[in-house]
Amino acid sequence: MAKIPDLARAGRRRAKLNGMGSSGAPMGATSGQGRQAGGTPRAALADLLAGNRRFVSGQPVHGHDVTAAAAAASGDQQPYAVVLGCIDSRVPLEAIFDQTFGAICVIRTGGHVLDRAVCGSIEYVVGQLGVPLVMVLGHERCGAVEATVEALRTGQRPGGSLAYLVDEIAPAVTEAGIDDPAVRPLAIRRHVRRTVRTLREDDLLAGPVAAGRVAVVGGLYDLATGEVALLDPG
Ligand SMILES: [Zn+2]
Repeated sequence: MAKIPDLARAGRRRAKLNGMGSSGAPMGATSGQGRQAGGTPRAALADLLAGNRRFVSGQPVHGHDVTAAAAAASGDQQPYAVVLGCIDSRVPLEAIFDQTFGAICVIRTGGHVLDRAVCGSIEYVVGQLGVPLVMVLGHERCGAVEATVEALRTGQRPGGSLAYLVDEIAPAVTEAGIDDPAVRPLAIRRHVRRTVRTLREDDLLAGPVAAGRVAVVGGLYDLATGEVALLDPG
């Protein structure tokens, strides 16, 4: 993203953030904090990805500041994005986007599988908090996808509620091709795209998405480098 749009807005809420340079690099110690709900999807995405670049470069602004005092100082929450990711312990979302308290809403389920609680939570964040950006973040070597591949290959569906996760991920694995040697990485990407599509068609999200007020995007986290890459809609 070569140019970050002017972030000034007829603020619905009090501005408290210094902006970002045209390179997308943070300009101040509080960058990433206080970006307001009600902004554009593009600006929100630029902010989120700038945070990931800080994380990747080993220069997080907020990474060190996880004290109770920092939490208390966040005041009212004014998140600018909601990220839906996997439960994988190697992918802590606030950390990999270098976000401070109050900046992003985070939802995590195995394989970022949707259910009504997840959709309702996103509807709330978008509809009530005015958040303009929803990111679905998959990651390499996702255990939930691997478990689904195994279940489909062996024909042994797991018991309990784990079966729900497998059932929800299975279409992506089938689309990728269960016999394809690269079924795991392919299915991970397809599952992200399917999740994005489902959210774009959600009852309460479809309107804002069509109007351009909200964007739902897919991303992939690289466990080796820490980088988040955007996935095209596919
Ligand atoms: Zn995972």
